Amino acid sequence: MSRVAYVNGAYVPHDEAVVSIDDRGYQFADAVYEGVTVRKGQMVDLEPHLDRLARSMRELAMAAPMERAPMRFVFREVIRRNRISDGFLYIQISRGVARRDHAFPTTPTVPSLIVTCKRLSIDGVIARAAKGVKAFSESDIRWGRCDIKSTSLLPNILAKQAAKEKGGFEAVLVDSDGYVTEGSSTNMWMVRTDGTLVTRSTDDNILPGITRATLKKLAEEMQIKVETKAFTLEEAKAGAEMFLSSSTGCATPIVELDGHKIGDGTPGPVTKRLVEAYRAYMEA
Ligand code: PLP
Repeated sequence: MSRVAYVNGAYVPHDEAVVSIDDRGYQFADAVYEGVTVRKGQMVDLEPHLDRLARSMRELAMAAPMERAPMRFVFREVIRRNRISDGFLYIQISRGVARRDHAFPTTPTVPSLIVTCKRLSIDGVIARAAKGVKAFSESDIRWGRCDIKSTSLLPNILAKQAAKEKGGFEAVLVDSDGYVTEGSSTNMWMVRTDGTLVTRSTDDNILPGITRATLKKLAEEMQIKVETKAFTLEEAKAGAEMFLSSSTGCATPIVELDGHKIGDGTPGPVTKRLVEAYRAYMEA
């Protein structure tokens, strides 16, 4: 069965889905996006994703293409038309089409909305979490507004590619003071040797991950001590456990960083509990 995409008011075959070459998303990455996990046909944490999307648009003075209720309908329809049970829903909104000029268009534009969905094996993600992944540190060369989920992702792409070429699954981004900021498309966590879970504050120029927020709540419910604080690359390497979080990665243990084993080089007990808690949360 061929895939179906939603593009500016129409459901079209994915291969035929196009936008204008004057779309500001294409020209300038003047666009925001969201990625939502679909588990057994249901969108996980949809409302927080919609809140973050609205915030990203507000921060960039971008108009919403439609209200929330019709947007939810389009998402459900894209999932249904693609017959997705487990998958990844992608939503992108740009400022729209305008004659090329860096400043915002002076006459109002119609924001572009595209929605696609692809299959993603959540069972595969959980299976990967049982083994853990390798990561490599890369310099964080991004801008000062990483809290906005914009499609301007070139530094993230370069970091991920560099990590991949070294045999890693993810890049751990490190700022000029040696502190871990986040991953190229994930949030970063460490577990100290005393069992405390540590993750950087979302006030600190990183993306406020939806999975991060859910995991933090689950950890607190499980009486795991959580510290919202930046940690250095060296602290991460000396820690007991490390993991990444994202909608597509859930909680995935990092068992090796820059060729250095984290803990004993296998997923640790705190991470395993969180992987299981998050799996149960998705089912619920
Ligand atoms: N950090 C960055 C830079 C990301 O791009 C993402 C996801 O795309 C995340 C963190 C994780 O966010 P979420 O858990 O909402 O998927």
